[in-house]
Amino acid sequence: MRRYDVLIVGGGHGGASAAVALRQRKFAGSVAILGEEANPPYERPPLSKEYLSGDKPFERILIRPLAFWAEREIALLTGRRVVAVDAVAHAVTTHDGEQIGYGILIWAAGGHARRLSCAGHDLAGVHSVRSRVDVDRMREELAATTHVAVVGGGYIGLEAAAGLTKLGKRVTVLEAQDRVLARVAGPTLSRFFAAEHRAHGVDVRLGQSVEAIEGRHGRASGVRLATGEVLSADMVVAGIGIVPAVEPLVAAGAEGGNGVAVDVSCRTSLADIYAIGDCALHRSSFAEEQPIRLESVQNANDMATTAARAILGEQAAYTAAPWFWSNQYDLKLQTIGLSTGHDREVIRGDPSWRSFSVAYLKHGRIIALDCVNTVRDYVQGKALLLQPAPDIARLADPSVPLRDLVPGADAPDV
Ligand code: FAD
Repeated sequence: MRRYDVLIVGGGHGGASAAVALRQRKFAGSVAILGEEANPPYERPPLSKEYLSGDKPFERILIRPLAFWAEREIALLTGRRVVAVDAVAHAVTTHDGEQIGYGILIWAAGGHARRLSCAGHDLAGVHSVRSRVDVDRMREELAATTHVAVVGGGYIGLEAAAGLTKLGKRVTVLEAQDRVLARVAGPTLSRFFAAEHRAHGVDVRLGQSVEAIEGRHGRASGVRLATGEVLSADMVVAGIGIVPAVEPLVAAGAEGGNGVAVDVSCRTSLADIYAIGDCALHRSSFAEEQPIRLESVQNANDMATTAARAILGEQAAYTAAPWFWSNQYDLKLQTIGLSTGHDREVIRGDPSWRSFSVAYLKHGRIIALDCVNTVRDYVQGKALLLQPAPDIARLADPSVPLRDLVPGADAPDV
């Protein structure tokens, strides 16, 4: 049986960063990344942005050049899916029956795209946007595509809508809730992004649930809504979230369900097994110590560093402030903190300027900032997180730099 001192399951952002962090910290043992995708580790955010639109080829979204892994003696075991974990024997089993032993296991398996479950969900022309393969399949069909229905008005759905619009497709976004981005942002940002998409020609339909995908000759031809209306669509893109990929670990006895529970050092409840990234359920001071899963590159990278440090015997705690970005058209949204449960929004600037920020307050503290084309607010605003809210009139005044509102602290210059 092959055996690695550190075996990393999942070759995405978290898995790749964990291997890099171990070698940067001079870990001398054997390291392997075992991932089900056929590709070396690559960046996922461009899949709904520059890779979809054709502005970046695959080689430019690799996390590291291919030679890097061999030079650092990090084995890449691609195209291998783990189906079982034996936490007592310290071994995993892959889909083709091989057993691979580990000293330490880092579970960095992310999640799989949630699929539509309605009638017609399995027709050709129905897509998800999670992997390179998903987007390659979409791109192969684009030349023959006129109408695209995007199901889900979250970040991925909206980014796909922007990219497909840029490629000249007629796009309809179908969102079941009464606003886009409802899970992650406040109403001001939702209104702003819905208006932007409409201004670019996207038909944004709110409060619409999909009843079925209609087909002709085995291919999607339209989307039937709960209202009975049928929209023409020769491509359907589902952006309806992910299901964390944790079954083998939970079956092995790890605490969790909607993710694997980890402590502040990313340790699971099983000996010598860590979990990081999209699949890791952790308590966060940015969510009042409630267990949450974050789906962002920052979270995957920072958890990877935390796990690597803990493996090397350092005191390591994951306490970083969550941050996230989204690019749509010429808009760069940067988010810091978590706005969930906010009780007040303070808008800095005017959305009509297409450069403004929203500060989210809860119980008199700033819990998050959404910054649209306002990099300076994003950089300076970090120091305000979880602090008592400053004078609201000054917070709302975009001519007052946020660093001036930090009690007794020097925010960095931009
Ligand atoms: P992943 O990167 O998903 O990697 C997990 C890997 O594990 C995958 O390759 C998966 O196939 C593999 N795997 C799963 N199960 C198994 C198994 N049993 N055996 C072996 N391998 C397995 N974040 C941002 O911060 N900003 C953005 O703008 C942004 N845009 C995004 C756009 C898109 C289209 C997508 C899909 C995501 C985006 N994200 C963005 C989110 C970000 O990419 C994820 O949070 C990040 O990739 C999580 O890293 P991870 O290592 O936890 O999981």
